[in-house]
Amino acid sequence: MSHSVPYSAPHPVYPHLLAELDLGFTTLKNRVVMGSMHTGLEDRFFHYAKLAEYFRARAKGGVGLIVTGGISPSRQGWLLPFGGTMNSIGDIHNHKRLTSAVHEEDGKIVMQILHAGRYGYQPFVVSASAIKSPISPFKPRTLSERGIQSTIAAYVRSAVLAQRANYDGVEIMGSEGYLLNQFLSPRTNHRQDRWGGSIDNRMRLALEIVRRMREAVGERFIIMYRLSLLDLVEGGNTGAEVVAVAQALEQAGVTLINTGVGWHEARIPTIVTSVPRGAFREATARLKRAIKIPVIASNRINTPEVAEQLLAEGDADMVSMARPFLADPEFVLKAQQNRADEINTCIACNQACLDHTFKNQRASCLVNPQACHETELVYRPSVKVRRVAVIGAGPAGLSAATVAAERGHQVTLFEAAEQIGGQFNIAMRIPGKEEFRETVRYFKHRLQRTGVEVKLNQRVTREQLEALGFDDVIVATGVSPRKLRIPGIEHPMVLSYLDVLQGKVAVGKRVAVIGAGGIGFDLCEFLLHDPQLPLPISIADWMDEWGVDPLAAESGGLRRPEPATPLREIHLLQRKQSKVGAGLGKTSGWVHRSVMQRNRVQMLAGVDYQRIDDQGLHISVGGESRLLAVDNVVICAGQESLYELVPAAAIAPGKAGQPVKTQALRNGSGSDGGSRYHLIGGASFASELDAKRAIREGAELAAAL
Ligand code: FAD
Ligand code: NAP
Ligand code: SF4
Repeated sequence: MSHSVPYSAPHPVYPHLLAELDLGFTTLKNRVVMGSMHTGLEDRFFHYAKLAEYFRARAKGGVGLIVTGGISPSRQGWLLPFGGTMNSIGDIHNHKRLTSAVHEEDGKIVMQILHAGRYGYQPFVVSASAIKSPISPFKPRTLSERGIQSTIAAYVRSAVLAQRANYDGVEIMGSEGYLLNQFLSPRTNHRQDRWGGSIDNRMRLALEIVRRMREAVGERFIIMYRLSLLDLVEGGNTGAEVVAVAQALEQAGVTLINTGVGWHEARIPTIVTSVPRGAFREATARLKRAIKIPVIASNRINTPEVAEQLLAEGDADMVSMARPFLADPEFVLKAQQNRADEINTCIACNQACLDHTFKNQRASCLVNPQACHETELVYRPSVKVRRVAVIGAGPAGLSAATVAAERGHQVTLFEAAEQIGGQFNIAMRIPGKEEFRETVRYFKHRLQRTGVEVKLNQRVTREQLEALGFDDVIVATGVSPRKLRIPGIEHPMVLSYLDVLQGKVAVGKRVAVIGAGGIGFDLCEFLLHDPQLPLPISIADWMDEWGVDPLAAESGGLRRPEPATPLREIHLLQRKQSKVGAGLGKTSGWVHRSVMQRNRVQMLAGVDYQRIDDQGLHISVGGESRLLAVDNVVICAGQESLYELVPAAAIAPGKAGQPVKTQALRNGSGSDGGSRYHLIGGASFASELDAKRAIREGAELAAAL
C-alpha cells in the first residue's frame, strides 16, 4: 500500500492539499477529509433524503473523502435513544441513499461506527468498567467477556452492512472518550482480565475489531481509525502509548489513521474559536513519523492556507475539516479555482453546530443557514425582479442583500459606517475572536459577486427611503447599547463597552463590568489581554496558558498551566441569581468561565446597583451593601433595537419582550404601488440578539421575496 504518489499536475497554490492520495486499491482525489459531524439527521430514517442532499452538496464541492456522523453498531452503543444504527439488513436501504448521492457526484464516503460506551445518554450503556462519566447521568455496566465478544461482532457486522450499502469504507471512532477510548485508558479501564491492565491488554479490543473487520470486508475497503492523540484528561494515555497503539493498528490492517484531540469531558478547549489554528499539529507530526500509513490532522484547521502549510511541512498526509464544510460545501472547489477569498470560513463559534447537537437539535451553521437545510432553504431564481433596499450592512443586512441579489433582485445596500460588517467589526477585536474577520471578508466578496450596489457612509432617513420608492425595504439597522438609570451613571468613570472596544477611552486597573452576557465576558477578555502581545495568541503561549504538552510526556498530555499574571482586577456583575455565564453557549461558555476564574475575575450574581461616585460602584448583594473601589465601570447591559426607519403604520402590534414585526405597507411609490417594509436581525429583536439569528433571518426573508 503506497500513499506517495508523484504529483502529476501540481496545483499552483495548493500543490499538497489538492494532490491525489493513492491508497493502493483506490485513489482519493485530494487530501481533504470532511470529518464526522452529528447533524441530527442521521437518527431518523425519514430524514435520510435531507441527509443525502447535505452530503451531495459536499461531494459536489470536491472534498476527497466524507465521513458520516456517528452510526452505532448496536443498541448498547447508542449515543441517544433510537440514534442512527447499522445493525440489520433493513438499515442498508436508507444508507444507500447517502452513498448514491455522493457517488453520483464522484465523491467517496465512509460510515463512522460510533459506540458511545459510557457517554451514551440512554439506560443501556456499557463500558470497560462501571465508572460513570461526568457528562451522562447513566452509570455504565461493565462489559463481560461475552459482552465484549458480541461488541466485536457488532462492529464487524456494521462494517459488512456498510460495505453492502456501497460505502467506500468505515471509520472506527476511537477518540473523544467514546467506548474504544474508554478501553484504551487507565482512567476508565480498571479491568484485571485480558482486556485491562497493560497497554497491550487495553488496546486488545480495538485490535480485535480491526483484525476481524479486515477479514470480513477484504482488502479493498477503507478502514480508518480515529485515534485520540491527546486525551487531555487525568489518567489518559501518554504519547508513547498512543504511538504504540497506532503501530499495532497499522499491523492489524487499518488503511488510514484519523486523529482526535480531547475527550468530551476534558476541561481544555480543543475546537472553540480561541484555540489557535492548527494548534495540535506537533502531536500529529510525531505520530506520522512513527507509522507508514497516512495520518490525518484535525482540529482548528479552517482555511486552505493552514491545511496546505501543514501538509507541505510534512506534519500529516491529509487534513480533516468538519465544521468548515458546514460553513461552505464548496471549500475545495473554491480552493481549486483559486477563489479561496470566496470561502465562507467557519469561525469556530459552535453556536449553530455543536451547541445544537448538545441540545438535541438539528445542526446548522451560523454563517451558512442552508447547512443541513439544503432541501428547505433554497435560493431559487426570482420570477419577478424587485427593487430592494437593504439598510444596514451588519450580518443580517449582508445576508439578506446577497441572497436577494443572487436570486436576481436589484439590490442596493446602504451602510452608515465606512465599512461593512456591523458589530462583527467590534467582535473581531476580542482576543480569541479574530476569526470573525473572515465573515466580513467573505461577505465583501459575495457582495461583489452578486452585484449588490453598496453605498457606504450613508445614514438613510425615512424621507430618503420614501423618495427612492423601492419595492422592498429591509431594515437591518441593528441595535444601540441600553442606557441605564443608576444614580451617578453620568460620572466620568462610567464607560460604554463600545468606546472601550474601539479603543476610544483609557481604562484603569480596577474595573467593574455591569452585565455578564456574551459582551460582558468578551469585554473582560479584552481588558485582560496585554496590548503589547500580538494577536492571535501563538500556539506555544496557548499551550502554556492551558497546560498542554502536545507530545504527552505525561498521562493525557497535561502539564501545569503557566498563565500570565492577570492584567487587571475585574468584577463581572449581574442582577440575576443564576450562575454567572449560564446563558453562554453550551459548548463554549465553560471556556469563558475558566478564563475568568484563572484571571481571578470576581463573578457576582444577585447584584443590586445602588450608585456610582468618586469612591467607585456601590452595590448590594443579598441585602448587604458593598463598595467596589474601582477606577472604571463599564456598561455591558444589553441593547435596544433600532427600527425608527420603519413607518409606525408598518409595525404590527406585538407584546413587550417579543420581536418587533412589520406588516405589508404600501404607502410609497414602489413599482407595485408601495414599499413593503421588513425588519430583521438586532433591529427586530435585541434580547437574545445573536448573529446566527440575524444571518438566518436575512437569508430566509430574501429567499421568500
Ligand atoms: P448590526 O451588526 O448591529 O448591524 C447594523 C448596521 O446597520 C450597522 O453597521 C450600522 O452602522 C447600520 N445602520 C444603522 N442605522 C443605519 C442607517 N440609518 N442607515 C444606514 N446604516 C445604518 N453574536 C454572536 O452570535 N456570537 C458572538 O460571539 C458575538 N460576539 C459579539 C461580540 C461583541 C463584542 C459584539 C459587540 C457583538 C457580538 N455578537 C455576537 C453580536 C452580533 O455581532 C450581532 O448579533 C450581529 O452583529 C447583529 O447583526 P445585525 O445585522 O442585526 O446588526
Ligand atoms: P445579553 O447577553 O442580553 O446580556 C446583557 C447583560 O446585561 C445581562 O447580564 C443582563 O443581566 C444585564 N442587564 C440587562 N438589562 C440590564 C439593566 N437594565 N441594568 C443592568 N444590567 C442589565 O447581551 P450582551 O452581552 O450585550 O450580548 C448581546 C448578544 O450578543 C448576546 O445575547 C449574544 O447572543 C451575542 N454574543 C454572544 C457571544 C458568545 O460568546 N456566544 C459573545 C458576545 C455576544 P441581568 O439582567 O441579570 O443584570
Ligand atoms: Fe463553524 Fe460556527 Fe458554523 Fe459551527 S456554527 S460550522 S462553528 S461557523
